[in-house]
Amino acid sequence: MNSQRDKLDELTRPHTLGPPAVAGLPASPGQLLAGGVLIALIMTAVCLFGVWTRLAGQLAVFWPANALLLGLFLRFPRLDTAFGWIGAVVGHLLAGYLAGDALPISVLLTLTNFACVVSGYLLLAQPFGADARRLHDVAGVLQLVAIVFVASAAGGLAGSVVGPIAFGGSAVESGLAWFVSELVNYIAILPAVLSIPTQQHREVVRQWRKSMPPLRRAAPLVALLLSMAAAVAVGGPGAVAFPVPALLWCGMRYGVFSTAMLTLLTTTWTLVAISKGVLNTSVQIETPHMLMSVRLGVTLIALSPIAVASAMAANRSLMARLLHMAEHDPLTGTMNRRAFATHAGQALEAARGARQGVGLLVLDIDRFKNVNDTYGHSVGDQVIVLVADVVGGQLPDGGPPLLGRLGGEEFAVLLTGVDSEQARQMAERMRQACAQTAVDLGQGRTTGFTVSIGACVEQPAHATLDRLLQAADRALYEAKRTGRNRVVLTDTD
Ligand code: GH3
Ligand code: MG
Ligand code: MG
Repeated sequence: MNSQRDKLDELTRPHTLGPPAVAGLPASPGQLLAGGVLIALIMTAVCLFGVWTRLAGQLAVFWPANALLLGLFLRFPRLDTAFGWIGAVVGHLLAGYLAGDALPISVLLTLTNFACVVSGYLLLAQPFGADARRLHDVAGVLQLVAIVFVASAAGGLAGSVVGPIAFGGSAVESGLAWFVSELVNYIAILPAVLSIPTQQHREVVRQWRKSMPPLRRAAPLVALLLSMAAAVAVGGPGAVAFPVPALLWCGMRYGVFSTAMLTLLTTTWTLVAISKGVLNTSVQIETPHMLMSVRLGVTLIALSPIAVASAMAANRSLMARLLHMAEHDPLTGTMNRRAFATHAGQALEAARGARQGVGLLVLDIDRFKNVNDTYGHSVGDQVIVLVADVVGGQLPDGGPPLLGRLGGEEFAVLLTGVDSEQARQMAERMRQACAQTAVDLGQGRTTGFTVSIGACVEQPAHATLDRLLQAADRALYEAKRTGRNRVVLTDTD
């Protein structure tokens, strides 16, 4: 009913990434099953990819399955059902079967992977994991690192038992390799999955695109590509850190999701480029120990841009909320007097060269003191909100006209590109719509209300808000004097 108010609530809700606090409608059995099948398919594909990166008789070089599964369950709670978990187990076993693993080995490897996913899930699902889940700010990013450290340690512990059975080697070596591999994958992949944009954020991104020229938008990305090229050209151990300033710039300018994706791509590219000899670090990385060190180092370097992006996103959303609160009336969600004056001034300035007129309507609820005295202040408030909704509902969507609450039970509407007759018709429609609106008093009782409207139209070349307000006020006074519940249109002289 109260659309202005809903808009205000939407905009002033604290900025969060990740799933909304309240889940939607419960899913049907068909949807639950479809979710389970989807998870099974994704896991089969991702596990097969992981198996493909396995060196002969060793742990996979890249195993994104666990981080992806944990991220999907947290980011899309609709998938986090018994069907989803069963689908994940099926996906793992199916991939093992397709890869030719013996069933007992496949079961043991799946158990180890789940030790990692379940411990991460149990920690992140706790109330204290909320910041980490939403990557709300720098603290959230650090908390995520702490949690995935513990989850990877759990994986490492299980790996120290399963590794020697599956691939041979010592328990310590296997556990350590498993731990580092999990930590690297979690840090690289989880932020990107957790920050997949919601509908609300897609809107924010659209606004951002509109607000920035393409060159400014592309600059950090170009810098990133150049720094990667410089890393290849210069080489040496320090080259792995060359893209960091550009990634920090990405973090400042882009959202968390884009930054996390760019960071993931840069890290992956760096590791692949090192292994293929494209990026020559001049370091012997053949030993498993050096390989581990390089992977861990490259991943940890990539954390700071994500932290920067989270902090910037939190800051941007706080600024947007503060600006909204400073400009809007909390009762009706319409602009307050100061914001109306600012925006109306700008609209008048923009209309200066136009041929068509600009108009101002001032609406005042009739005998409003009586409403308060008879039904109480809260019914009075309800009437004020109804007027804002009814009047707002008469305005065309998008762009000017502007609606503001000047104070008390008085509203103003600025119209651009209108003549006197159009302004009068608009005001008349508003007056009639108000007169036909019922106020719910509870227990089946209702009452009504009326408004008086003073209107004026002027050529844009001479119009100032002060002149328009004075003329509309005079017209409003006339409407009140001649019986209320009417529109009076005047000129500005
Ligand atoms: P008129 O037809 O001449 O406009 O009569 P009126 O009673 O509407 O005019 P008046 O300006 O004397 O009364 C306005 C009343 O509006 C007085 C004030 O108590 C009440 N009011 C102002 N702000 C609010 C508000 O936010 N909520 C409620 N419930 N009442 C308010
Ligand atoms: Mg008044
Ligand atoms: Mg009044």
